[in-house]
Amino acid sequence: MSTTTTEQLIAPHGGELVDRTGERPDDLDSLEVVTLTSRELSDLDMLASGALSPLDGFMGQDDYERVLEEMHLANGLPWALPVCLAVDDEPAGARVALADEAGRKVAVLDVMEMYTYIKEAEADRCFRTTDEEHPGVARLYAQKDKYLAGRVTVFERAERPFPELALDPAETRAQFAERGWKRVVGFQTRNPIHRAHEYLTKVALETVDGLLVHPLVGDTKGDDVPADVRIECYRVLLSDYYPSNRVLLAAFPAAMRYAGPREAIWHAICRKNYGCSHFIVGRDHAGVGSYYGTYDAQLIFDEFEPHELDIEPMFFEHSFYCKTCGSMASAKTCPHDAEHHVFLSGTKVRELLANGEIPPTEFTRPEVAEVLIEAYRQES
Ligand SMILES: [Zn+2]
Repeated sequence: MSTTTTEQLIAPHGGELVDRTGERPDDLDSLEVVTLTSRELSDLDMLASGALSPLDGFMGQDDYERVLEEMHLANGLPWALPVCLAVDDEPAGARVALADEAGRKVAVLDVMEMYTYIKEAEADRCFRTTDEEHPGVARLYAQKDKYLAGRVTVFERAERPFPELALDPAETRAQFAERGWKRVVGFQTRNPIHRAHEYLTKVALETVDGLLVHPLVGDTKGDDVPADVRIECYRVLLSDYYPSNRVLLAAFPAAMRYAGPREAIWHAICRKNYGCSHFIVGRDHAGVGSYYGTYDAQLIFDEFEPHELDIEPMFFEHSFYCKTCGSMASAKTCPHDAEHHVFLSGTKVRELLANGEIPPTEFTRPEVAEVLIEAYRQES
């Protein structure tokens, strides 16, 4: 791959793709060990790969406070969510080893500073609520009381649940360049793709060169469809209904925060690092329960100057199959009442699948339904 081809893709956030992978240091055994939660490990791996460019480590206080209050880093670049490492005490040395919960050392951190933070303030700014029932708030309230900041060097990459789909930003960029794509739309998902989302990815694809289907495979809440089932759904859908030379399926290693609007911005910036020039933002992106308004995750993009984010959001409304139009549509394109539309509630869909019944093909592709039915069958 020559650099001239990748230069035609959108530049990473801040201009350069960060690479914080490195060698296992000789003094590793003498370092104090800080244990990371699985969410912090996801962040660490994304720091290593450059998915969180321009960050090269866990955030210091200047960045943290500016992100909370103004959605920008101290250097002025847009950024929406803290990327922080919570600890109890300040380590004695200038360097610490970072380990997973099993005790496996994976990285070192050069200590820049440790600072206290106010959990309620972070919850209020990032999640727009201090309600402990919110899964992101609950996680925040349960974590340790101080943040340890500093640049990281990762010598042991995280285990990848789907190795063939584990593409770092440099790798997705290389694939896009190889295929001659310049304008690429990223699609974040943590659910099986039914007809509605198939429709909006295809509407988006009509205007660009390629589509990155980028399911999140880090931690999600317990009642979301497990990643392995979702991946199988994506595979059957893509192989039967999308042109293979226009779509790339890769795993997005982030953990869900359920921060709604701010997470939509954060997701978009990460996808820019993966080489996407466009990013799909649907209804209630990264939402949970009824904490966010249906289109809050779209409206938040207005809080940035035009072109400040560089990546272009593509906003979509709720879509459905309209029997009278004879096609997929949305309120923007279909003049007919709800009785003309094929609508099934999430509860109804789960009920059908759990009973081994295939929902209408206007709602979901039968191949996808079969994967889900099989997953329900094995569960019971
Ligand atoms: Zn219609």
